[in-house]
Amino acid sequence: MPWQTEVSPFILLDYHPPFEYAPSDVPRGVGAHPHKGFETVTLLFSGEVQHRDSAGNQGDLNAGEVQWMTAGAGVLHEEKHGAAFSKQGGILHLIQLWVNLPAKFKNTPPSYQTLTEKEMPVIELPSNSGTVKLIAGKYADYSGPAKTFTPVVLAEVKLRAGAIVTFPLEEGYTALVLVISGQLMEGLDSGYMGRFSQTGKDLHLEAVTDAQVIILGGEPIQEPMVAYGPFVMNSRQEILQAYTDLQSGKFGVL
Ligand code: MN
Repeated sequence: MPWQTEVSPFILLDYHPPFEYAPSDVPRGVGAHPHKGFETVTLLFSGEVQHRDSAGNQGDLNAGEVQWMTAGAGVLHEEKHGAAFSKQGGILHLIQLWVNLPAKFKNTPPSYQTLTEKEMPVIELPSNSGTVKLIAGKYADYSGPAKTFTPVVLAEVKLRAGAIVTFPLEEGYTALVLVISGQLMEGLDSGYMGRFSQTGKDLHLEAVTDAQVIILGGEPIQEPMVAYGPFVMNSRQEILQAYTDLQSGKFGVL
């Protein structure tokens, strides 16, 4: 099985560990750049992030919130530190995840979701063993607010030391666990990601210390994938076409 299928629908995970920025009059971040064929999902743990794109969407992300941008047919966006955060300085801590789109949705119009703390259910785990904050997919009778194109489960789980927890996932789903802080079993320390078998069903987690982890699950997209620069398509030909489209202005203006 190619590695893409073993982690699909996830493509890439960019981890920005906690880092303290000095005050600045000019917001840091990434200026206008394109994406096509997938979604960027940003989980902000600390700091502020400002988003603007060529589809006319913008959003200010605060700590605890999630941004779910569907690049789809093609978009230009910029990702900057928030204005107030830049002026004051402080700790930025986030992850950005790339989630693939299947061929039939690669040309869906660009869209944008800001998921606030109020929208994401926080569920108490049995025996006082921690909490599940649900971003996408299902846990027990709860659903995360993110609208996805294929089945995706994304949750932030806080576990108390000694907790043994079962997180249900569908048979055949990709199952990844990123440790943000603390330690899970089998030497899964903070900053590490564990990949569990796709043939099992439930995800068993045992916390050695208090731990904060991100669960990434989902139905693998069984299609060829060609990722190049900011584009993720099904063939090399489609990547070349994306560059032609970008140069001819089809991604709009920012
Ligand atoms: Mn980007």
